[in-house]
Amino acid sequence: MDFNLLADLLLPNIDKTPDYFEEKYPVRNIKEGARVTRFAPSPTGYLHLGGLFGALTDILTAKATDGVSMLRIEDTDKKREIGEGVDAILDGFSSFDLFFDEGIDRNGEKGDYGPYTQSKRVEIYQTVAKQLIREGKAYPCFCTSEELAALRERQEKEGAPFGGYYGKWAKCRDLSFEEIEKNIKEGKPWVLRFRSEGKEDGKVFFDDIIRGKIEMPENVIDEVLLKSDGIPTYHFAHVCDDHFMRTTHVIRGEEWISSTPKHIALFKACGYKLPKYAHTPQVMKIDEEDGTKRKLSKRKDPEAAVSYFVETGFPKEALIEYLMTLLNSNFEDWRRANKDADVFSFPFNLKKMSSSGCLFDMLKLTDISKNIISVMNADTVYERVTAWAKKYDEQLYSLLSSNPEKARAILNIDRENPKPRKDIARWSEVKDYISYMYNELYAENYSLPENINNEDAAAIIEGYRKFVDASDDKQVWFDKIKDLCLPLGFTPNVKEYKQNPDAFKGHVGDVSTVIRVALTGRTNTPDLHSIIAILGDGEVQRRLSEAEKFYLGEK
Ligand code: GLU
Repeated sequence: MDFNLLADLLLPNIDKTPDYFEEKYPVRNIKEGARVTRFAPSPTGYLHLGGLFGALTDILTAKATDGVSMLRIEDTDKKREIGEGVDAILDGFSSFDLFFDEGIDRNGEKGDYGPYTQSKRVEIYQTVAKQLIREGKAYPCFCTSEELAALRERQEKEGAPFGGYYGKWAKCRDLSFEEIEKNIKEGKPWVLRFRSEGKEDGKVFFDDIIRGKIEMPENVIDEVLLKSDGIPTYHFAHVCDDHFMRTTHVIRGEEWISSTPKHIALFKACGYKLPKYAHTPQVMKIDEEDGTKRKLSKRKDPEAAVSYFVETGFPKEALIEYLMTLLNSNFEDWRRANKDADVFSFPFNLKKMSSSGCLFDMLKLTDISKNIISVMNADTVYERVTAWAKKYDEQLYSLLSSNPEKARAILNIDRENPKPRKDIARWSEVKDYISYMYNELYAENYSLPENINNEDAAAIIEGYRKFVDASDDKQVWFDKIKDLCLPLGFTPNVKEYKQNPDAFKGHVGDVSTVIRVALTGRTNTPDLHSIIAILGDGEVQRRLSEAEKFYLGEK
């Protein structure tokens, strides 16, 4: 058959050859060893945590080698696409300050290897496809879905070694030009298939950077390259795009390992250099119900979507920092030695990635987050929590922004010292954390530890009300509390209490607990002296007197 004629019959509108694109997208002028990576999501309307993990791997790999990272949108599968899909992905990345060197961004796209959206690259795919037809490496297939289903049935019955379109099962593989021409004239839909040369007992090998040498059966399937609408399949688009974008390292999810033999065969058929592959592990979790390890699921786990972390107010650096610990196990040592360094200066190494699934651990993320927030100064905390509240908690936003000075003072309690408190892991927790400082949020709660009865509590409060002065410095404040102790049967000296517990009702800690509960409704708070200073005498007196009434049974 004259394959040139076939090529013109099938793709008459394609007037370029691959050489045109070879020239348009030249081999990149980058330094030796620099890696070119791409993150290639489908616009499914949300960014999966595993996607953020993958994108971070791409960006770090490129940065660690002075290379290039790209964001490419893979929208050839219209069934998976949703309207605002790309925006959700870009939102996800910008929430975590992750940016690619090239590709799709808020302003459209940047870079010399675009377009970076697959649906805009159809001419490239069809040009390569036409070349494969000219070389006899691709052919049209007119089989209907019914015929393909019947084929699978026959294969099962006859015990074919593989299911699918190949070898003697591939009905359209050897159609004559005349048959093809007739079908086309009749308007029969067709797909373009790869004419595989793989042997049933053949093997392929490839080096996966994360997993080492992988041996797999060679591809025998006559894979679809172009669907009946002329749009490529993932497999073919991957080969064309990563060739013409001059990707050096294809880092993608492990679910693609099984397709790699197809891709190797296609790269070879096209005469392209095979990129290096690194198949990343899945992000897993322990199922709360049955304790098994499973994939993070979009349906079952809210934390599968990156937006969950934004909405619940994890600071962006906490999630990135946490993902880094999953990416390279030496990250934590590096962090200890480089406390303030930018995360992207970490010498990331793909080879050090674990090949087994990474277990997502909310507790560890929470710890990391608490540490990060604990060392922020009050101004930063104020800014970050206000920005979060503006979007997600109107009431909190109005309280914080109506009196920034008060809010900053509250957030400054026990901060910027060598042992800062670690109460807050996410901005959504701030409301509860500061609630007793605002009457709009404060809920009285007068429960006391068991060793203190209401009568003693009322006496402590009555005594304290006479002396309290919100402007006292810390020493004076504490001395006043100590002075209260003995006349009421408590000791100012904790040690003394421990030595002789029967001689006292309690110690100075118990006395302050009563005052703390009366003022905040809690037994554990940050520095009480600072709380009193911010609440001010009027509010302190009011709360103390309410508490006293309660303990006296008057309310
Ligand atoms: N679009 C593919 C996906 O959504 C990307 C695979 C790849 O990175 O090559 O999984």
